Amino acid sequence: MLNKKMKIVIAGGGTAGWIAAAALSNQMGELLDITLVESQEIGTIGVGEATIPPMRTFHRLLGINEQEFMRATNATFKLGIQFENWKQVGEKYFHSFGITGKQTLITDFIHFWLRGRKLGIAREFGDYCLEYKAALKDLFSVNDQAKLNYAFHLDAGRYASFLRVRSEARGVKRVEGKIAEVRQHPDSGDIAALKMESGQEIPGDLFLDCTGMRGLLIEQTLQTGFEGWEQWLPCDSAIAIQTESTAPAVPYTRSIAHHAGWRWKIPLQHRVGNGLVFSSRYMSDDEAINMLLTSVEGKVLIDPRVIKFKTGKRKKTWNKNCIAVGLSSGFLEPLESTSIHMIMTAITRLLQLFPHGEIRQPIVDEFNIQAESEITRIRDFIILHYKATERDDSPFWRYCKDMDVPENLMHRINLFKDYGRAYQVEGELFRLDSWTQVMLGQGVIPTSYHPIVDLMSEHELQNFLNGVAAGVDRNMATLLTHHEFINKYCSSTLNS
Ligand SMILES: Cc1cc2nc3c(=O)[nH]c(=O)nc-3n(C[C@H](O)[C@H](O)[C@H](O)COP(=O)(O)OP(=O)(O)OC[C@H]3O[C@@H](n4cnc5c(N)ncnc54)[C@H](O)[C@@H]3O)c2cc1C
Repeated sequence: MLNKKMKIVIAGGGTAGWIAAAALSNQMGELLDITLVESQEIGTIGVGEATIPPMRTFHRLLGINEQEFMRATNATFKLGIQFENWKQVGEKYFHSFGITGKQTLITDFIHFWLRGRKLGIAREFGDYCLEYKAALKDLFSVNDQAKLNYAFHLDAGRYASFLRVRSEARGVKRVEGKIAEVRQHPDSGDIAALKMESGQEIPGDLFLDCTGMRGLLIEQTLQTGFEGWEQWLPCDSAIAIQTESTAPAVPYTRSIAHHAGWRWKIPLQHRVGNGLVFSSRYMSDDEAINMLLTSVEGKVLIDPRVIKFKTGKRKKTWNKNCIAVGLSSGFLEPLESTSIHMIMTAITRLLQLFPHGEIRQPIVDEFNIQAESEITRIRDFIILHYKATERDDSPFWRYCKDMDVPENLMHRINLFKDYGRAYQVEGELFRLDSWTQVMLGQGVIPTSYHPIVDLMSEHELQNFLNGVAAGVDRNMATLLTHHEFINKYCSSTLNS
């Protein structure tokens, strides 16, 4: 037991700050004295609206009711991402959150599928995955039979407000205003207090830097250093706009590649989030704004905003008595919607490794080791989308196709190409299914399959494949249209 409450100061009230406040107050509130500082004048980045399924586990930990959360944030369901023009212009594939086929003890489903494909008796790979088929038919339901694996599209601003209400109800104190100075202990260099423009001082024992890309504490004060990954993730800019919905929301994100990057379309209940991600080496801001404005459907609701970013990570996520959470800790670009997830894992990690008494180096090192391992594996998965392309129609895509990639990723690509083997290491976010779908979708097709599959007769294999596909079809019959289900389950109009 701690004798006195540890003082936690959260600098920043974007998605990162309020997730941190909500989780710490929910799990350890009685042991902590938590203050969050934010400046309405500075505001938040205002993007970050697509998520991945582990968010549901995090919400369960915090006792968040799904319907209440969805109504409050105008959320829709997400079953995966449709990638268009990534492998080749005019082609598309789907990275779903589901499991494709059935695993056996010895080998993965893909080996059965590869042989079936060779014999001409297999359907499309995605036809063996419920989430993929449901998404493309615009179907959804939360029910005990289908058990879809899903995430959400949400309104980032409303999500922060939703978490703020919960945090303040659990005793988190909020201070509005700008941080003018970060005070350090003269001897240790630890952060002692935040000094506000108003003159107020906010002292703390542990500081969470949630100030976004500026990294006011972790970088501007502690000069922790940044490791850039732009050689592998060359996009460094984005334009974001919101538009009115012109059709019912589909249960997936669209990621549409263009000659110098890609653009997203994220449908919410009340509007659509649109963005264009690009490399400033190959596209100007004006060209990007123009491309986005001419490609969106529906009335534009806000002026286009240009966001500049640097892909990479802070050299240490936890330095002295400061932990960087959210964009202050690094950014991988939004292709697989992993940033909010990494905020949640950072806070879960902090809860698990919470220092007893003084902050000592072993706990800091362990935190940093885990954070580093997490982000580098996610990084490699994202690089895969750029590297494994057949596109050579622009300098940007030729660069991506020819670039050297991290050794680990090259090993994964070669292993898949030669043997059809994908894997998930311990603690890794993306599962075998994700690696397999993206490899196949990007055109990395295995040249052989596991010989054990040949022990089945063609008839047995056909029965097996048909059985899996029939199971998917049976579950499809239990679903409603996404729109119908949202109306029944979590319509935000029920809120107003
Ligand atoms: C183009 C783009 C698209 C993205 N899409 C996705 C996505 O689809 N899915 C996903 O998971 N993530 C996405 N992200 C990432 C996501 O937006 C962020 O991870 C998330 O919003 C968290 O941001 P943050 O809270 O760290 O920073 P911010 O939102 O920038 O918040 C910073 C906070 O610090 C405060 N602050 C800063 N300086 C001071 C000061 N001096 N005094 C007082 N307060 C201060 C600000 O007021 C603000 O409250 C995307 C990011 C970008 C750039």
